[in-house]
Amino acid sequence: MTNTVLVTGGSGFIGSHLVERLAQQGDRVAVYDNFDPYYDREIKQANIGPSLAMGNVRLAEGDILDRDKLFAVFEAARPAKVVHLAARAGVRPSFENPQSYVDTNVTGTLNVLLACRKYAIERLVFASSSSVYGSASAAAQENVTPLRPLSPYGASKVAGEALCSAFSRRSGLAVTALRFFTVFGPRQRPDMAVNRFTRMIMSGETVPVYGDGTSRRDYTYISDTIAGIVAALDADLPGFNVFNLGRGQPIMLRDLLKLIEFGLDRHARLRFVEDQQGDPQQTCADITRAHAVLGYEPRVSTQNGVIRYTEWYLEQGRERVGSR
Ligand code: NAD
Repeated sequence: MTNTVLVTGGSGFIGSHLVERLAQQGDRVAVYDNFDPYYDREIKQANIGPSLAMGNVRLAEGDILDRDKLFAVFEAARPAKVVHLAARAGVRPSFENPQSYVDTNVTGTLNVLLACRKYAIERLVFASSSSVYGSASAAAQENVTPLRPLSPYGASKVAGEALCSAFSRRSGLAVTALRFFTVFGPRQRPDMAVNRFTRMIMSGETVPVYGDGTSRRDYTYISDTIAGIVAALDADLPGFNVFNLGRGQPIMLRDLLKLIEFGLDRHARLRFVEDQQGDPQQTCADITRAHAVLGYEPRVSTQNGVIRYTEWYLEQGRERVGSR
């Protein structure tokens, strides 16, 4: 039977890939997104445009803080399942404007949970983050590693998970929280490292490298993240469950830069600057549980992912020039 899946934040980076995948497999998709000004509206319109042309995807523009509008969209779409991706993302800006992170990521998540309960949806998948762990010297394990976020953003995701857990216990709602580890690929958010470094190298700008370039991140290619989300939507798990979706193979910032230089065939000019507040020295996922329960198996290495990304980026540039 055809499902309707409601995706909050469906015009964003991860959301637009998910919507495309669900629509391609024949699901009906209802997207709820407010085109938050964190980055350009045109980028998000371009992200979601091709999916809207597919016929089984509908877009409602609205804020998850607007409870009436959100409920009206649930009423109209009657989704069987919901993927809640809408959020204020980004670690560093969460220090400048922590209130907006608490509003969207905590109160907004509460509103989504209230709607899921009212409309008795089958399953909610909640976008959590590796930021809930803070800096972990060893691979983080879901139900073992303590949650010690280093930023208001990370704290807001801990609070979102806690609300999901409470709603699940109280009303039997099935909720799966997925802790994403630095996702990259085509359409990546402009504030994130791979996208930012690529643009700076191509325009000849000097790239600021925080710390000494030895911080390590567990990068996950977008197609692997999407496979994990789809597996979580399909898995018949009762109650509240949490999974890490990473690769478990962190790489150093300076090695990431070398991969991007190779992909672009350009040399990067680097400037070493002080470490940023809230940035952990390392993130690393233990994905044993996601593998065992969801069959999650990341397939794209960081190296291949960066090559795919830079090819996509260069191709886009050629298209822009070609259309002038
Ligand atoms: P994104 O900013 O590209 O997408 C988020 C979308 O949510 C945007 O389209 C935005 O317009 C929408 N949105 C924001 N506030 C909203 C509101 N109040 N009401 C309705 N829509 C709203 O970000 P992304 O990188 O695709 O991240 C998606 C989710 O995954 C977020 O919850 C983020 O915290 C989480 N996450 C992402 C990463 C990553 O590496 N990209 C890592 C960990 C967690």
